[in-house]
Amino acid sequence: MRKLRRLIFRLLLLAIILIVGIMLIKTFSFSSKQLTGVEAVSQKKVSENAIQRFSQAIQLPTVSSPTEIDTSIFSQFDTLIQNNFPKTHQELERTVINQFSFIYKWAGKNPKLEPILLMGHYDVVPVEEASADQWTVKPFGGELKDEKLWGRGTIDDKLNVMGILESVEMLLSQGYQPTRTVYLSFGHDEEVSGKYGGQSIAKYFEEKKIQFEYVLDEGQMVVNDALNGLEQPLAMIGIAEKGYTTLTLTAKLQNGGHSSMPPAETAVGVLSKAIYRLQENPFPIKIEGATGQLFEYAGAEMSFFYKMLFANLWITEGLLVSQLSKDPAASALLRTTTAPTMLRGGIKDNVLPTTASAKVNFRIIPGETVASVADHVRSIVDDERIIVQANTEFSSEPAPLSSTSSFGFRILQRSIQEIFPDAVISPSLVIAATDSRYFQNVAKDVYRFQPIQLSRSDLKGIHGINENIGIEHYHRAINFYRQLILNSSK
Ligand SMILES: [Zn+2]
Repeated sequence: MRKLRRLIFRLLLLAIILIVGIMLIKTFSFSSKQLTGVEAVSQKKVSENAIQRFSQAIQLPTVSSPTEIDTSIFSQFDTLIQNNFPKTHQELERTVINQFSFIYKWAGKNPKLEPILLMGHYDVVPVEEASADQWTVKPFGGELKDEKLWGRGTIDDKLNVMGILESVEMLLSQGYQPTRTVYLSFGHDEEVSGKYGGQSIAKYFEEKKIQFEYVLDEGQMVVNDALNGLEQPLAMIGIAEKGYTTLTLTAKLQNGGHSSMPPAETAVGVLSKAIYRLQENPFPIKIEGATGQLFEYAGAEMSFFYKMLFANLWITEGLLVSQLSKDPAASALLRTTTAPTMLRGGIKDNVLPTTASAKVNFRIIPGETVASVADHVRSIVDDERIIVQANTEFSSEPAPLSSTSSFGFRILQRSIQEIFPDAVISPSLVIAATDSRYFQNVAKDVYRFQPIQLSRSDLKGIHGINENIGIEHYHRAINFYRQLILNSSK
């Protein structure tokens, strides 16, 4: 008996030594995916007027609306960029789409090379009245204070529009011409679907049979305290984007009546149960795709303990999944999310309604589809009294993964490293929708990255209160675009 026990003990010990051994080997061979031999590029001095021009752009409240926009403001923005970037307007070919979206073509020396497209949008979300008094500056004042520019749109997304234009104007005034043709596009309704801006611009390129080597839009950025275990800032390049759909769940019951004699089940109760079931059965978490690649790139640069965790997903995945699913931000990167957002039912407190309905919003991870989400919901709800309806008009499928071994990814990686030399660079998933989702058919690869470095707390300014950007950060963004245009011509 004792012999047997000793044997089991020895076997267990051997197994543990073996597992630890494999874990260590995997950790030490978890090799870096960062580029080597890339030197930081010294920043070019940016014209002092650049920040003034940016401030003027912020002072125009180009607020998006699904119904009607203030067209005079959008026209003023057009005039502003025409006046402020004279060389761009003289030397680049401009096409206007639906009156307020603009395409610029900067012809390259070698027409055989596929062009690139740098995108941005200049419409902004409104300032919520309830939060207006929490702004410490006028949201559309374009105020310069504490070495920062303040106001709606300083990050999302006039930063890109103005930054791209500054870099082009700067290169033009040095007499530069790219080898590869560079297109710029600026949409005017990204915040309300992008139908007349981004989507129509993509259609224009499709009709003209213009195919891009790569497209770059907003989406991800450089984040200082992005991940536990990673000391360096993390520069994320969005290589995929989540899809979007909202389902309406309607409970329909035969009996309404007076609330003094309620039946065992009511429409409100049946609907509540369905929502409860959905929340209790979230979509599965998967460490794969763009987020899987994020951990491959970032994991290799982490402190030893975390590096060991990410190098050994074969044994640590369960633990990581349970930890990550507790954090809403991490969870959003790893699964299709379920968010009940609206409820409707009943007209009076003492009348039982025969129907009650709810809207539930889903952000769909690549690999699933609008249809597969609806199927999943029906099977979880599993109640024939609940009708599940899709809103096809505002649904979008997740954007597929762009390559990480392409020319575009390599050029982006290099340019980011030259301008943000401290950052670790990784692919990533974008959880919000951007105009770039319309460009899959006209580009080999679509990437989403904004050249700005923020901490996680700064991110709250986007669509929130006190949105601002450091002047230095803006200058760096201009330098980034300059560098990207130069590198893309090599
Ligand atoms: Zn945006």
